[in-house]
Amino acid sequence: MRKLLVQHADILTPDAEERILRDANIAIDGGKIVAIGETPHEFAADEIIDAKNHVALPGFFNAHTHAAMTLLRGSAEDLPLDRWFNEGIWRTESAVREDDVYWGTALAACEMIRSGTVGMADHYFWMHQSARVVQEAGMKALLGWCVFGSDFAAEMGPTTLALTSDFVAEFQNSAGGRIKTILAPHSPYISTTRALADAADVARKLSVGCHIHVSESQGQVDNSFKQFGKSPVAYLNDLGIFDNPSIAAHAIYVNDEDIEILREKKVSVVACPKTHFKLAMRTTRIVDLMRAGVHVALGTDGAASNNTLDMLEVARLAALAQKHDTGDATVLSSMQTLKLATRHGARAMGFANSGVLQVGADADLILIDMDKPHLAPRHNLAANIVHSAQGSDVNYVIVDGQVLLRKGELTTLDQEKIMRHVEKRGLEIVRGALTQTQRYSVQETRQGA
Ligand SMILES: [Zn+2]
Repeated sequence: MRKLLVQHADILTPDAEERILRDANIAIDGGKIVAIGETPHEFAADEIIDAKNHVALPGFFNAHTHAAMTLLRGSAEDLPLDRWFNEGIWRTESAVREDDVYWGTALAACEMIRSGTVGMADHYFWMHQSARVVQEAGMKALLGWCVFGSDFAAEMGPTTLALTSDFVAEFQNSAGGRIKTILAPHSPYISTTRALADAADVARKLSVGCHIHVSESQGQVDNSFKQFGKSPVAYLNDLGIFDNPSIAAHAIYVNDEDIEILREKKVSVVACPKTHFKLAMRTTRIVDLMRAGVHVALGTDGAASNNTLDMLEVARLAALAQKHDTGDATVLSSMQTLKLATRHGARAMGFANSGVLQVGADADLILIDMDKPHLAPRHNLAANIVHSAQGSDVNYVIVDGQVLLRKGELTTLDQEKIMRHVEKRGLEIVRGALTQTQRYSVQETRQGA
């Protein structure tokens, strides 16, 4: 196993002590951090990275995304949520094929690594293709194969709950532990009660959680009360969806009872502020949820609603949205925001030994080049990163001790080839989409019991 030495970095670890070490070293062996600060005398590195003028921090964990949707980036613009689904995504997705998922996810991996993301919670279809990309790219991932489980039209490709549970069993802890798996029923507003109850049952048997979209609009909540006499969160909880540690994407419209369920069931709520702004939704009440003891992480969502997969941009928007919405400029400090984007994301995705820079932790870290006009002077490193840095300032990305980005160059992926392929197929997909895979309407009565 290669030994790696990062020298002369300013180390920022947004842990409980909010520690910053100046001009310090990080020694990495066997994929783990073995020393921070001084290098042990006997440590003989195979590679030395000179990190002068760089800040080292834990890599970002993108806790809710649909990676292959890079194929549809920019194809459904300036639309509200219902029209974005019906006129945009669920039309174009009818032309997406298995092979496309590999290429779309590969493009996502290029973009994510370049902007400092080391792990993603990917929720899409044909997920063995996503697993292939994760294996090749060297990233970490929590993969969930989405099941619509609705009465309308067809699933994407051959998807069934049985197939997705086979995927969970086959890929759990694969790629040397870099891949974890989860079930991924789409949402309470698309999936039938029967489909959700079945997913909860299988999740319990496989000892995994569920990654699901929840409470994105007032209409979804109103309809849930009308149909089931309870909120979407209470409805999912009663069906057993949250019985194992799960991810609730968005959870924008939640009441006090919902918040108590999310806290008690240790559900990770993932806020995706750029999607919320762009689709003119409200945004996840991160501060209120955290004050109530709910675990919160951040995600980009897919590139068809966010347009980028840049966690720095998401972190900045999360902090700004909370300051703006609460009318309190003191909430979500830069250090707290970095913690959401790193350690909280890692925990939401089941990578408990990551998201922190300390001896014994997984060596999942990034180096940001601070020798840039927009990052000077360095009064407050965390503020410089959250409110001034750009994804392209990330110069090195290391996962389990493997260098995935070196001096701004990808080491594991052929970006040029991937971009060429996606450019061609992305245009073909949007042109070739003739049918609709799903239909969004919160007014409809679903069947199933
Ligand atoms: Zn989503």
